[in-house]
Amino acid sequence: MACKCCESSKNEDVVVCPVCRKVGDNVSTETVKSLVNEDIELKDTKYHICKDHKCEVIYFSNNQVIVDSEVKVEVWYKEKSTPKVLCYCSNITTYDIDSAFQQNNELTFNDVIKDMKNEGDSDCLHNNPTGKCCHKVISQYIENLKQVIIRDGSY
Ligand SMILES: [Zn+2]
Repeated sequence: MACKCCESSKNEDVVVCPVCRKVGDNVSTETVKSLVNEDIELKDTKYHICKDHKCEVIYFSNNQVIVDSEVKVEVWYKEKSTPKVLCYCSNITTYDIDSAFQQNNELTFNDVIKDMKNEGDSDCLHNNPTGKCCHKVISQYIENLKQVIIRDGSY
């Protein structure tokens, strides 16, 4: 699924989260700026996002650590986040996809996009905590639901 925002996600350097020591992803400073609480002052120009689901760190740089309580949105893959938003531009949660899937277990990514997503309003750089397009995450989430059916026989 190619779209403009999916293409711009090259990882240049490997950096680890100062708290969980797991490898983080690059994230645009523009994204960090738009999602941290107003009272947080950014001290650097280069930030990364922690990908560990248990770690409370969201963003980090060489001199700064920004934790979940300092960010305006919940990051879906963090264990304690509720609701788990997958598409931040159109506010589509895992709950929305679960219920659509319960009604139609042949559900595809395109159905979700067609029925729920308002493509005209997409601004992943400023809305999504990773700064990236949600398309891949939504496809994977649907794929996982289908795997559960294959494995357990029912949802
Ligand atoms: Zn971490």
